[in-house]
Amino acid sequence: MGLFVWEEYNYGMSHTNELLRIENGGWDERIVVCRNGDLVDTFIIVTERFVLLVDTVINPQTAAQMLAWARPHLERGRQLLIINTHADYDHCWGNQLFAGETAVHPAPIIGSHLSSAKFQMPETKDYLAKMKELEPEIFGELVFTPPTLLISHEFVIDGGDLTVKLLPTPGHTDDHYSLYLPEINTVLAADAAEMPYPMARTPDGLPQMRDSLARLAALPAETVLYCHAPVTAGRQLLLDNIAYFDLVEAKCRAALLSGFSAPQGDDMMLIDQINCPYQTTVPDTPEWQNVHDYYKTTGHASQIRAMLHWLEQAGVGKENRP
Ligand SMILES: [Zn+2]
Repeated sequence: MGLFVWEEYNYGMSHTNELLRIENGGWDERIVVCRNGDLVDTFIIVTERFVLLVDTVINPQTAAQMLAWARPHLERGRQLLIINTHADYDHCWGNQLFAGETAVHPAPIIGSHLSSAKFQMPETKDYLAKMKELEPEIFGELVFTPPTLLISHEFVIDGGDLTVKLLPTPGHTDDHYSLYLPEINTVLAADAAEMPYPMARTPDGLPQMRDSLARLAALPAETVLYCHAPVTAGRQLLLDNIAYFDLVEAKCRAALLSGFSAPQGDDMMLIDQINCPYQTTVPDTPEWQNVHDYYKTTGHASQIRAMLHWLEQAGVGKENRP
């Protein structure tokens, strides 16, 4: 599992500049859900004091659509605030509208203190160069703009009528934040949970990701929205993600205890050796079974490798290994 496997998150996907406004499915009216193709959902939260853009989608065009929807609410002294849940491209590459020379509506961009450095990484710069070449109509005008207000712990925005708590929820990435809005029992989990499962960027991120899932599931939430899951997924998805990792752990533990060691085979061979096919690791419903093949093969195998790595580090099955 690579350190920075962008391609795995972006398997041959082509992008769109279109952003859809999703019809309210029963969540608080102050939250607007925006959708960019099949890729990602972002959110606008309208409070008494602030209009918050939760993530800026993939580029200036898609961020401009969010801004256009936010604008009518920027009245009676309401200010615009931008939040980056983390520094993956589908969450913050529209930042340039809000800071720097490219800004059309300057506003503070709140993000993890760990996010800024990610824009400087050679892998990220190479990735942008590649995307500009492949899809100039989407990424041609992109200028990297890191967050401008850097936070490292829980951070609370008092919107007047709504409190917005930014909760560090590392795992998927180390700079990841989720949002909790206590007055309306709502969690915006970002990529801390996903359909069918979230992915840790590094093997060490796996236990952190499971901790974060447990902390989000412990919140008294009635509405939970995600960046990569149907808006109907609800709080149950947090529990299903937890159950998935618990089951993968149980299978990996059993394999290690019966003498299994360092996998050499390909993805499907590994899944077979651990006796942990995707199909039996998630609920037996069409929604879960009809996911992109990636999640049943490479993605699922990556989770198994990360789990084996973690368990081996913890010494599980040590006595059985040479
Ligand atoms: Zn994402």
